[in-house]
Amino acid sequence: MFRRPDFDALREEMVRQQLAARDIRDERVLAAAHVVPRHRFVPRREQRSAYQDRPLRIGRGQTISQPYLVALMTQLLELKGRERVLEIGTGSGYQAALLAHLAAEVHTIERHASLAERARQVLAELALDNVHIHIGDGSLGWPDAAPYEGIIATAGAPRAPQALLDQLADGGRLVLPVGAGTRQTLQRWRRDGNQFTHEDIVPVAFVPLIGEQGWYAP
Ligand code: SAH
Repeated sequence: MFRRPDFDALREEMVRQQLAARDIRDERVLAAAHVVPRHRFVPRREQRSAYQDRPLRIGRGQTISQPYLVALMTQLLELKGRERVLEIGTGSGYQAALLAHLAAEVHTIERHASLAERARQVLAELALDNVHIHIGDGSLGWPDAAPYEGIIATAGAPRAPQALLDQLADGGRLVLPVGAGTRQTLQRWRRDGNQFTHEDIVPVAFVPLIGEQGWYAP
């Protein structure tokens, strides 16, 4: 007989030990991580590991980042609640669910239709109806709903795609991993008028962004 783990308790511990005890200071990000049931977004065999301090496999060779990195990237977007945001790489839908709690409207793009469908189902079960999932090449952004106060890519690009910079609102932030293979850097870009500046945050290792303004398909 297997007992169902106490996911609520595990999640509370995750927020305390992995996020608040490190440098996640944005109270809204901590609150969102506290309510989004991360275990619902991963395959059944990974559910028991959902609140551990590591990335998890979500199918199609893709991964969902460790909770700390998801929270850090979210914090870097500096969301206050009224924004329209864009995510590239829906994957499991977990990051999109956090964004749904922190912004007014979320658009997210995934190139694998099977992952997008699964994410759509979980987000619907959680009644997060301010998330709009699109299937396609997110390296080109989603011009139909632009501009965005925040854009986040959860796959590594060779460089910040011009299409994404173009779709930033004035004052908007773009957070993304840049670089090849395991030698990637998390960057945050900021748009002020037609001026774009960026800062390097930490070394990271994401799956590749595959697309016109990303890497070639293997
Ligand atoms: N944010 C996700 C993690 C996704 S992993 C989560 O919370 O679970 C990165 C995802 O980016 C993968 O699902 C991969 O298929 C997708 N991806 C890679 N290149 C892409 C592109 N050009 N457009 C859209 N999605 C892309």
